[in-house]
Amino acid sequence: MTFAERAAELRERVEQAAVLAGRDPASITIIAVSKTFPRELIDEAYDHGFRDFGESRVQEIRDKLATPLPVDSTLHMIGQLQTNKVRQMLRYADVLQTVDRPNLVKSLSRELPKQERELEVLIEVNIAGEEQKGGCSPEDASTLLASLKDVPLVQPCGLMTMAPYDAPAEAARHVFRGLRELRDRLQQETGLELPVLSMGMSDDFEHAISEGATHIRVGRMLFGER
Ligand SMILES: *Cc1c(COP(=O)(O)O)cnc(C)c1O
Repeated sequence: MTFAERAAELRERVEQAAVLAGRDPASITIIAVSKTFPRELIDEAYDHGFRDFGESRVQEIRDKLATPLPVDSTLHMIGQLQTNKVRQMLRYADVLQTVDRPNLVKSLSRELPKQERELEVLIEVNIAGEEQKGGCSPEDASTLLASLKDVPLVQPCGLMTMAPYDAPAEAARHVFRGLRELRDRLQQETGLELPVLSMGMSDDFEHAISEGATHIRVGRMLFGER
């Protein structure tokens, strides 16, 4: 299949899942996860109308974005981030989806004023409680969010999660529902608006859409196997 065919199929499935859930397809943003794929494929995706891109390693972002993306693109950092990479990450990313510990918040509060820029962030939550996975516990999300409230130039927009790899559909749905319910609770608790739910990848985005995903992160289905 060509990229155009894969993109058309993806968009059709997103639309169907949205309609089935009684949602407006336009309320769902597809993030084209271009990690491990060359810059040419980002440009091809851009030419086919994609404007949101996901990358997970700072070094790779630096290499691939030596020539900046067109100004109407949005780069989402979706990988685990070491605090010593925050400064470089800020040169490229528009959204950081993986805030999961106080150290990272501290580092952002130091670097953002230096670079005189704002950053949209999501809190990554490990809903399934898997070991060796990024993301804070649902209990810690509330504390993290409260600490973000005090950081100038940071805009907390919502939550992000990953379903366990190879999880059966029902288990994935359970995780996605858990993220949505946590978001609802945090909104009430903090009074913050948290409209973004980033959840769902190539194998499970339809379930994520039916549970309320506003952003799905799709790599393999668009670009091929890694
Ligand atoms: C790689 C990755 C994706 C995309 O996964 P695919 O299976 O290629 O669709 C989504 N989210 C995160 C955090 C990733 O690391």
